[in-house]
Amino acid sequence: MHLKQLEIQGFKSFAEKVTLELTKGITAVVGPNGSGKSNVVDAIRWVLGEQSAKSLRGIKMDDIIFAGSTTKKAIGMAEVSLTFTNVEGTLPLDFNEINITRRLFRSGESEYLINKASCRLKDIYELFMDTGIGKEGFSIIGQGKIDEVLSLKPEDRRNLIEESAGIVKYRYRKTEAQKKLEDTDQTLIRVNDIMLELK
Ligand code: ATP
Repeated sequence: MHLKQLEIQGFKSFAEKVTLELTKGITAVVGPNGSGKSNVVDAIRWVLGEQSAKSLRGIKMDDIIFAGSTTKKAIGMAEVSLTFTNVEGTLPLDFNEINITRRLFRSGESEYLINKASCRLKDIYELFMDTGIGKEGFSIIGQGKIDEVLSLKPEDRRNLIEESAGIVKYRYRKTEAQKKLEDTDQTLIRVNDIMLELK
């Protein structure tokens, strides 16, 4: 699996559509201070489902939409897409190429898409779970992350090892199943109450 292409439009400093082709090997993004290098990484983290505006160096989520500059007007929507090659089938979808997109409108409305089909945020999380690519995956090492890893509490370090070992998805599925069981228990209690009332 290989991140092949990144498309950004209306996200932070990228008012116009920008397409970055990432060939195999090392790609370096260079530029003066404040030119938008970190915004590229923020865009990747955002399309992978980041929900914390603070993690994206903002205060509220719509801070990521291009807010205008001296020469350009503000924009109403941010859109970021990533395209991965999937010939080895690492991602659990039967496509040689997988494209994910996230959109956010100033109205607050947002959309996620997998291969141009509308999906839930949950589908994006599940697609990348245990691949190391998710928003919490270790494919993105932000500034200060190494220090953070070295000073993690034992439980946090365990989470880190679990993500690397690929067992996070089983923990996630267990939590989902437990939630369903709790819902079912509540439904049973309600049904019992109704039956008692009817007797
Ligand atoms: P450094 O080398 O200092 O870390 P950088 O190249 O990583 O800088 P970024 O932090 O990615 O730069 O980009 C900062 C720029 O992005 C600032 O000029 C800021 O005004 C611009 N920016 C951030 N959010 C928005 C937004 N919503 N609309 C327009 N511009 C934005």
